[in-house]
Amino acid sequence: MNKLNFDLHNHTSASDGVLSSEELVALAARNGCDALAITDHDTVSGIAAGALAAARLGLKFIPGVEISVTWSPAGDVDARETTIHIVGLGIDVANAALVQGLASVRGGRIARGREIARLLVEAGQPDVFDDAFQFAENKEMLGRTHFARALVARGIVPDIAAAFKRFLTPGNPGYVPFRWASLSDAVKWIHAAGGVAVIAHPARYRLDSSDMDKLFTEFRALGGEGVEVVTGSHDPSEYAPVARRAKAHGLFASRGADFHAAHETPKEPGTLPTLADVDRDLKPVWGLLEPVPGQPQQNGGAVH
Ligand code: AMP
Ligand code: MN
Ligand code: MN
Ligand code: MN
Repeated sequence: MNKLNFDLHNHTSASDGVLSSEELVALAARNGCDALAITDHDTVSGIAAGALAAARLGLKFIPGVEISVTWSPAGDVDARETTIHIVGLGIDVANAALVQGLASVRGGRIARGREIARLLVEAGQPDVFDDAFQFAENKEMLGRTHFARALVARGIVPDIAAAFKRFLTPGNPGYVPFRWASLSDAVKWIHAAGGVAVIAHPARYRLDSSDMDKLFTEFRALGGEGVEVVTGSHDPSEYAPVARRAKAHGLFASRGADFHAAHETPKEPGTLPTLADVDRDLKPVWGLLEPVPGQPQQNGGAVH
């Protein structure tokens, strides 16, 4: 079961991806995915179209979301707050607690965008607010990726990685600290909607090994189920250490391209190594979702 080509983390133009839901589903089907999840940042507005398109192509579809969270290690008063991302899979997108929670997280993105633009001007750059706003198809989801694309389009940086490195990450002139959801609220909303909670791309966070253990422990205590091991947001050298930590904490493993755009994301949906390629003992998080046709059940059924 952990050999299956499930790709459970991908973005559409409803957040900071560039493909429509239909285009993303078609790409996943072309690439031979056994299942696809759309997991836009803080919104589920791309799910209905994705589900329809997937049904038309006979592709198994998993409704998802990637929630922005602000976290600091409990008990460490000096700890810096870190933005982390929690993916929800198999969610009921009509659930009121989830819908209201996501709306509260989205609020403030446009004001934050104005502040990013102001700081960039202060740093001697042109005002790129309108350009970034144009790049955001879903205006309330204006985010740093849209600013990165605007900076690239103006020729200020060669690519979006450079835009983040020079301007949009902590310590750089266009970075605006922001308070997102709490870890416990994010997990609660996902569970309220009948979903499974997964820590996204842990190796991306600026946490040392001890704080990473604190994050995994707290997440487990909150009832969180899984963690991404194989993701386009990890370097392949990070798969094995994350797999070991996942097993040590009793977490299920997930896999997803974190696809945004062809020239921005290293791998398309469905093209990463399987979980089994990394570690045969990983328990796939899709064992917790509804039964996969033709596959033996791993855990005796759904947990929620
Ligand atoms: P936001 O939610 O507006 O803060 O934007 C977060 C998004 O920015 C992430 O989901 C990534 O798509 C993108 N991002 C963050 N850091 C980087 C980076 N170093 N390189 C490329 N994209 C990044
Ligand atoms: Mn993104
Ligand atoms: Mn993320
Ligand atoms: Mn993502």
